[in-house]
Amino acid sequence: MPPLPIYLDNHATTPVDPRVLEAMLPYFTQRFGNAGSTSHSFGHEAKAAVDQARELIAEGIGCSPREIVFTSGATESNNLALRGVAERTRRRGNHIVSVTTEHKAVLDPCKRLSRQGYEITWLQPDRFGRVSAEQVREAMRTDTILVTIMLANNEIGTLQPIREIGQLCRERGVLFHTDATQALGKVPIHVEEDFIDILSFSGHKLYGPKGCGGVYIRRKNPRVHLTPIMDGGGHESGFRSGTLNVPGIVGVGAACEVAQEEMATEPNRLAELRDRLEGGILSRLDGVTVNGHPIYRLPNTSNMAFAGVDGEALLTAFNAEFAVSSGSACTSASMEPSFVLRAIGVSDELAYSSIRFSLGRSNTAEQIDRVVNRVVETVSALRTPVRQAVAAGAARVLP
Ligand code: PMP
Repeated sequence: MPPLPIYLDNHATTPVDPRVLEAMLPYFTQRFGNAGSTSHSFGHEAKAAVDQARELIAEGIGCSPREIVFTSGATESNNLALRGVAERTRRRGNHIVSVTTEHKAVLDPCKRLSRQGYEITWLQPDRFGRVSAEQVREAMRTDTILVTIMLANNEIGTLQPIREIGQLCRERGVLFHTDATQALGKVPIHVEEDFIDILSFSGHKLYGPKGCGGVYIRRKNPRVHLTPIMDGGGHESGFRSGTLNVPGIVGVGAACEVAQEEMATEPNRLAELRDRLEGGILSRLDGVTVNGHPIYRLPNTSNMAFAGVDGEALLTAFNAEFAVSSGSACTSASMEPSFVLRAIGVSDELAYSSIRFSLGRSNTAEQIDRVVNRVVETVSALRTPVRQAVAAGAARVLP
């Protein structure tokens, strides 16, 4: 069998860590009880496992286990946070503050709310993808009910100054939600120190299972009130009805535990590999720019624009050897340049030339060196015909 391509698309998803899988397995077969069936030992066993997972996650972000609500993932968590707060708090106000570079799982619920009569102020990030607490302050009104700003961007890795923003929100009595999907397990998060009221996360971005995640909902100082988006058996303190996905939840708990254990070493290791990747490429190729913040960035993320080369052509060339993703997204039939890159002022042409490398636990220095060599070779080869065409007077080669 040929070796698998090198996986550098950990922002899309991560493999389940073997330690996580091992923790999950018994809950599919022997320990299959319904965590809500507390009339017998099968149910008790399942409930105990869920409680333990809740504790592990709570420990990771500095909250009480009772403040964790399990969901099907960050999309659901974001919808619950935004629609839930908006509906519940409508009498107090209908204004929400967010940022243009949020994930679709925040942008789209906000857009739905705006069609329902809520007003959204969209902050514009700077050229590195960051917004400031000052921008949030200026956007706030007396009828502002919620500020929602992601902790780390999924395309460029930029980290937002959430502590400053959270503190401002607390002072103003406005709820602060953060989508921490890409940040959990990669950067330290503490809901008290960071003044976070609601926080979304997902298992499959941190070596846990797909289709399972959760949301932290603050219970005191202040207590967050929100209307559930699903009604039913009143599970999860009434915030999210539906039989609990016990193996999934056990997996998310185990994934958080592993991430927590590795927090002292793994992010540094990834940052070194990321710098090795960027350093290797930048020292050998001209016309390469890094999208995202030079300092306030996830340790595993590098989004690079290769001027004069089409990103899709690069992806095709890389495909057999390594997995990365491009700065463009397929929206219906057309290829659109990334709205995140556009929002930070990257030209369409460079956005089409951008590639996201998101590193993970399986990557090694040897792999990164192979990737650097291949990127340098491929970009040089693809640029040659462009140079020749330009030299020959061709008007425009790239889309
Ligand atoms: N928010 C961010 C920042 C993400 O990167 C993702 C996944 N791409 C989501 C939300 C959605 O997460 P899930 O797949 O768990 O619904």
